[in-house]
Amino acid sequence: MRNLVVVLGDQLDRHSAALDGFDPAQDAIWMAEVAEESTHVWSHRVRIALFLSAMRHFCAEQRQLGRTVWYQSLDAAENTQTLAGELERSIREHRPQRIVWVEAGDYRVRESLTAVVQAANVPLDVRPDRHFFCSTEDFRKHAAGKKSLRLEFFYREMRRKTGILMDGKEPAGGAWNFDVENRGSFGKDGPKRVPQPARFPPDAITQAVLELVARRFPAHPGSLAAFDWPVTPAEAEAALEDFITHRLSQFGEYQDAMWTNQPLLYHSRLSAAMNLKYLHPKKVCDAAERAYRTGVAPLPAVEGFIRQILGWREYVRGIYWQYMPEYAERNALDAHQPLPKWYWTGETDYHCLRQAIRQTLDFGYAHHIQRLMVTGLFSLLLGVRPQEIHEWYLAVYVDAIEWVELPNVLGMSQFADGGTMASKPYAATGKYIQRMSNYCAGCRYDPTESVGSTACPFTTLYWDFIDRHQLMLSKNQRMVMQVRNLERMSADSRAAIRRQAAQLRESLE
Ligand SMILES: Cc1cc2nc3c(=O)[nH]c(=O)nc-3n(C[C@H](O)[C@H](O)[C@H](O)COP(=O)(O)OP(=O)(O)OC[C@H]3O[C@@H](n4cnc5c(N)ncnc54)[C@H](O)[C@@H]3O)c2cc1C
Ligand code: SF4
Repeated sequence: MRNLVVVLGDQLDRHSAALDGFDPAQDAIWMAEVAEESTHVWSHRVRIALFLSAMRHFCAEQRQLGRTVWYQSLDAAENTQTLAGELERSIREHRPQRIVWVEAGDYRVRESLTAVVQAANVPLDVRPDRHFFCSTEDFRKHAAGKKSLRLEFFYREMRRKTGILMDGKEPAGGAWNFDVENRGSFGKDGPKRVPQPARFPPDAITQAVLELVARRFPAHPGSLAAFDWPVTPAEAEAALEDFITHRLSQFGEYQDAMWTNQPLLYHSRLSAAMNLKYLHPKKVCDAAERAYRTGVAPLPAVEGFIRQILGWREYVRGIYWQYMPEYAERNALDAHQPLPKWYWTGETDYHCLRQAIRQTLDFGYAHHIQRLMVTGLFSLLLGVRPQEIHEWYLAVYVDAIEWVELPNVLGMSQFADGGTMASKPYAATGKYIQRMSNYCAGCRYDPTESVGSTACPFTTLYWDFIDRHQLMLSKNQRMVMQVRNLERMSADSRAAIRRQAAQLRESLE
């Protein structure tokens, strides 16, 4: 055998650089389902099922192309249940001249597999991941010599570099950013019409996977009942088309809005297909730009959407590889509170949290503002140990892969990186949630109250957060107003908030 081409569960790109020059007569693809990847964090069952189903579909397609795929299934008797164990065994059995893979998406996996290859003394050919617009090397160059790495500068660089949404040297419409137009809420009446997203009922391969996951991981969180994720490139393209035609035009204005029993609203639900690499982000950005150029969707919606992919998605990957492995250990706010147990069940009477967590358990999905300003915000204000909340996010979302999940959680949502990503903590009272949703109308707590039996926990914990971090926050220009508001409070009010916050923390431990 010449090349053993390793394809991991988040590398299901039929045009992958790992397959360049593949010769069916001398090369083979290697894939493995192992329990470790579902148990190193307590993975949601839909997340496990989506990975396995997409992997099995990829394997079937490659075999149809006449390529040899050594595919280790989860139930195989000899399976060591770790990627390292399986790769080590395959190298011993097949003695390839060379191992080929594209850059991994997870530091832990990269380190363990590299160690196996080095121990076996086989040459390793690591190829770039063409699923990104910005290579890790180019991000390093972008970061070199900069004091802070803000998204906005990086995003403009990416627009210029790719020509996406550009008119010559100028941004389309004359502005880089339409954020002000993209912060709408629904008002009392709620969303007018929310089109149902395209659904992808399980085929025979997915059915078998769902049965396997139910049998092998009975105690893991999440329900398999509503599984309808796209699991092939063709299905992912149909999901893209459906989003562009039916939801993109509303995406911008309502991208920060939330509504009871509306898990998706106008979001795309495309992150998992992009992260597992069977939908190329360029295809997604091009389709969105086409919608603008042909009058299907307005510029603020299209710019807002492209910013998430060409901007945020690329940027967080850059941050991850720039700062790992020490990034994962950061805890700039010295937070040590345990994660409330109900994050795993949704059994809480805080209505916003119940909504966000229950839909996460039902579908493996919550949109960005639910992740940032409901589950993430509560954890930030409560002071949960960042590594514990990181493990929760990595476990429960279908799109969770460490390169994208960790900077979003540790950096953007918990401010645990001390400001590498965000210029200030995303801290807010319950009034923000009241403004952006109808959750508070169905809740027994009052977002305007910070003490007393109906005080909203977000509001209590917000003031307590500003109080606990007053010194650090007063040095941040963007937080000065919030600190001043605290300072205007009487000593008695501050003491009452501290007491209430302490009781809340105790009750949640
Ligand atoms: C605490 C927290 C944890 C997160 N964890 C993940 C994660 O594990 N995996 C993940 O893919 N995204 C994560 N995100 C980013 C974002 O919430 C999801 O990408 C998005 O909700 C996926 O749903 P969608 O496809 O409907 O996105 P849309 O709202 O339709 O957005 C379009 C696309 O933009 C990209 N995108 C949007 N925001 C971000 C962002 N901040 N970082 C990277 N890409 C972005 C995604 O690819 C997404 O599909 C997280 C955000 C927060 C605040
Ligand atoms: S009152 Fe507070 S806890 Fe209740 S839904 Fe509103 S923000 Fe959430």
